[in-house]
Amino acid sequence: MIDLRSDTITLPTEEMRKAMCEAVVGDDVYGEDPTVNRLQEMSAEMTGKEAAMYVSSGTMGNQIAVLTHTQPGSEVIMDADSHIYNYEAATASAFAGIQPRPLPGIKGILPADLVEGAIRADDVHLPPTSLICLENTHNRGGGRVVPLENMKSIYAVACKHNLPVHLDGARIFNASIASGVPVKEFAACVTSVQFCFSKGLGAPVGSIIAGSRDFIDEAKRWRKRLGGGMRQAGVIAAACIVALETMIERLADDHANARLLADGLAALTGIEFNPAEVDTNIVMVKPTVMSAERFSGELKKRDILTGVMGPDMVRLTTNKELDHGDIEKTIMAVKEILAGYSTDK
Ligand SMILES: *Cc1c(COP(=O)(O)O)cnc(C)c1O
Repeated sequence: MIDLRSDTITLPTEEMRKAMCEAVVGDDVYGEDPTVNRLQEMSAEMTGKEAAMYVSSGTMGNQIAVLTHTQPGSEVIMDADSHIYNYEAATASAFAGIQPRPLPGIKGILPADLVEGAIRADDVHLPPTSLICLENTHNRGGGRVVPLENMKSIYAVACKHNLPVHLDGARIFNASIASGVPVKEFAACVTSVQFCFSKGLGAPVGSIIAGSRDFIDEAKRWRKRLGGGMRQAGVIAAACIVALETMIERLADDHANARLLADGLAALTGIEFNPAEVDTNIVMVKPTVMSAERFSGELKKRDILTGVMGPDMVRLTTNKELDHGDIEKTIMAVKEILAGYSTDK
């Protein structure tokens, strides 16, 4: 099987398994797990934030951030294509009681004036704006890197209106490797940031949220309320330390494979996408001669798995389990599927 559904399918490395096996652990609810503490310190350092907290998933990290920053009945500005809006089972509404304010971004980029225009005036009729959420890289935007300049201009708007900004940085290391911008610089444009160890970095479990000391103290209470306080979590955190130490630079290989795939597919008719918009490890294509479901199904018959992201959107995500040969095979399979519809451009 060539699995391009997601980078979440990546398996822990030998080094991760060994670190997990040998991890020194304690009760993390008491703050006594040395491995979790080390991971949190490393993460705070890498993001340039005062403190960080280990959580079980990216969704939990994002939702704790929303819960910590907002009050029920307030409004949270987010991209209509964001993960928080689309793929977190409406948790922000169900648990935080906020009203989402989805804005039409352009592949994850929200123009700062659009954001500013959506901030509510102080009027008893209106829901007060409490938070702005950003996402980098942008998943439904096809793994695009949201430019630092865009984040800076949104942060300036947020500061002017005294609003916090949360970054869903599930793939912030992909953004950093692809753009050469240090994670710290992206994180400097936001109040809090969440990133995932369980995607391209290959660790089995967990995410980090980072922010000010006060923010993390309050976030710890929310983690406990959600049942997310873990005990000897160093067993899984150990793999995340290995991920930070050994798996960041190699994301460039995933990006190179996505580039290879994009260039191969761009030569075919029967699918549409802009290869110049492939920044990282995601290639989002639109089959024009059959449904996304059918296209994905045809690939599956050839032992290639992809993600259906909508009626006309298919996601191919490169990851560390795949090599050049797998990418070549995928291009050949798409060629075969589109043969009859397609001629080389
Ligand atoms: C995967 C992902 C998340 C959520 O992470 P889980 O660990 O799957 O809960 C959040 N945001 C983005 C952009 C993601 O890709």
